[in-house]
Amino acid sequence: MMRRHLGFIAFVGLLGVCPLVLPEFYVTLLNYIGLSALVTLGVVLLTGVGGLTSFGQAAFVGLGAYSTAFLTTATDLPLWVAPFAGSPWIALLAGLLLTGVVALVLGFLTLRLSGHYLPLGTIAWGISLYFLFGNLDFLGGFTGISGIPVLSVVGIELRSGRAFYYLIWIVVLVAVRVIQNLLDSREGRAIRALQGGTLMAEAMGVDTARAKMIVFVLAAFLACVSGWLYAHLQRFINPTPFGLQVGIEYLFMAVIGGAAHVWGAVVGAAAFTILKQWLQDWLPSLLGSSGSYEVIVLGVLLVVMLQRAREGLWPVLARLVPDTKQPITFEVTEVSPRNPILALGTELLDCRNVRKEFGGLVANDDMSLLVGAGEIVALIGPNGAGKSTMFNVVSGVWPLTSGEVRFRGERVDGMGARQIARRGMSRSFQHVRLLPCMSVLENVAIGAHGRGRAGVLAACLHTERREEREILSFAAAQIERVGLGEFMVAPAGSLPLGQQRILEIARALCANPSLLLLDEPAAGLRYLEKQALGELLRRLREEGIGILLVEHDMDFVMGLVDRCVVMEFGQKIAEGLPAEVQANPAVLAAYLGGAL
Ligand code: ADP
Ligand code: MG
Repeated sequence: MMRRHLGFIAFVGLLGVCPLVLPEFYVTLLNYIGLSALVTLGVVLLTGVGGLTSFGQAAFVGLGAYSTAFLTTATDLPLWVAPFAGSPWIALLAGLLLTGVVALVLGFLTLRLSGHYLPLGTIAWGISLYFLFGNLDFLGGFTGISGIPVLSVVGIELRSGRAFYYLIWIVVLVAVRVIQNLLDSREGRAIRALQGGTLMAEAMGVDTARAKMIVFVLAAFLACVSGWLYAHLQRFINPTPFGLQVGIEYLFMAVIGGAAHVWGAVVGAAAFTILKQWLQDWLPSLLGSSGSYEVIVLGVLLVVMLQRAREGLWPVLARLVPDTKQPITFEVTEVSPRNPILALGTELLDCRNVRKEFGGLVANDDMSLLVGAGEIVALIGPNGAGKSTMFNVVSGVWPLTSGEVRFRGERVDGMGARQIARRGMSRSFQHVRLLPCMSVLENVAIGAHGRGRAGVLAACLHTERREEREILSFAAAQIERVGLGEFMVAPAGSLPLGQQRILEIARALCANPSLLLLDEPAAGLRYLEKQALGELLRRLREEGIGILLVEHDMDFVMGLVDRCVVMEFGQKIAEGLPAEVQANPAVLAAYLGGAL
């Protein structure tokens, strides 16, 4: 216990003594490092964890700074604003409110953009807000605002950089802790799942648009607080530190420090700020002329880092200090199904005349199939027959062109993957979709997203311990159930591919599904593992779960399934008991007479 915190305690102790022993210059440098670390923490959350690249964070710093600068210095304010003016603390609240509203609007406009358009969008509003700050007369134009009052905390006036130092670093440490808490929660796993693309997360019942918005607004809040602190530290602001170039620097810091780790923000901010300062001091004397040469050197450095050490500095440092990560606590509990166990044969899935076109290509044509509770149905057919497409249409990944899909009596075609998942249909993917760096347990727990209620605030404050323990215990139980118990805390990416597929089954089971869709679950498994998988599927069938599976290995299918549906060129060419289908001439022809 103590050992685990040793590195952290040493770090805090060191931070505490710094202003007592260091000259003013270094205290100032550390203040700026702290302020940058706060913004970079948001970038880590947004870009490193959530996979959303933003160049525009400096603009949110500006919102925080300008809110307080304006409200604490302006005279002759309109009557309705006047009561809120003067106090930096009320200005902080106002700034956060403004930032929240702006972030929601910008997030709504830009987060839906995909690929390169999102970073371009952030550049666009990064530039716009900068010029807005510069062009509004009441914000002092490009000359800025001066005379921002001294901040006082519990009666202590933070007049000097030394006094301000403690406030900045306390805020940084609290922010790091809060973000760590968030990432180790249900909401945090949903956010981390964004990196694997939205497809998997939505199929696990995660509202990915909401998860993106959460990180976007949180990152904006962190930037806003940094701006507020900056304004009261400098007591003078102009638009320069809130422009696009500084926005890019924050991204630099995250990359240098390690964009995937909260401490990477602090390390990156420190490394970047110190290096930049050093280069600014030395390059002109080295080159004999002045100019912004440091920008070129930093640019080259970034390119080298992206080539050589994409993970950033933190993973390297982390190896030197004892493990700071909270060990995950869980116990394997009894499995208690939430969905009522359905009577055998109750109709679960009913597809009628499903047609799916991709442009001119008809991937599914007039496909009908039924799956009941306690039944295993195999969807077989040669490569490209349209089996995976059928899965994606049924589970709501793609809208169908025509036809109907009913799940437990309800029309679900037209619903999104998330809505269908929440109704008790859960799936695995032909090409595994998991987060390789996350533990097996955490990966599986993503499937249990729908079991929790606690929101972002509870997660940040870590007051949802009980619910969290329940979710992890439930996930652990599913892992035991599929036989991966010994790999519980191993990174998912370290498992062989076959086992990763089994992990996906455990993840799907976490949703307490009444219907499982498994796309080639036995691919890559060895003989004994296949037998174990068969056993598992039989047990699930006995519990009343319906299973629809795509499989190539005929021996595996024949001994296991109740019915087969055979597809070729998007159409159903045969259906029946495994033995019947096997003897069907059309099926034999489809498999070129040999494979079956
Ligand atoms: P199976 O899983 O039976 O091997 P698929 O369902 O993956 O077959 O593919 C069926 C057909 O649909 C193939 O011809 C494939 O090229 C096409 N297809 C699958 N997904 C897409 C897509 N997203 N866009 C266009 N064509 C696709
Ligand atoms: Mg397929």
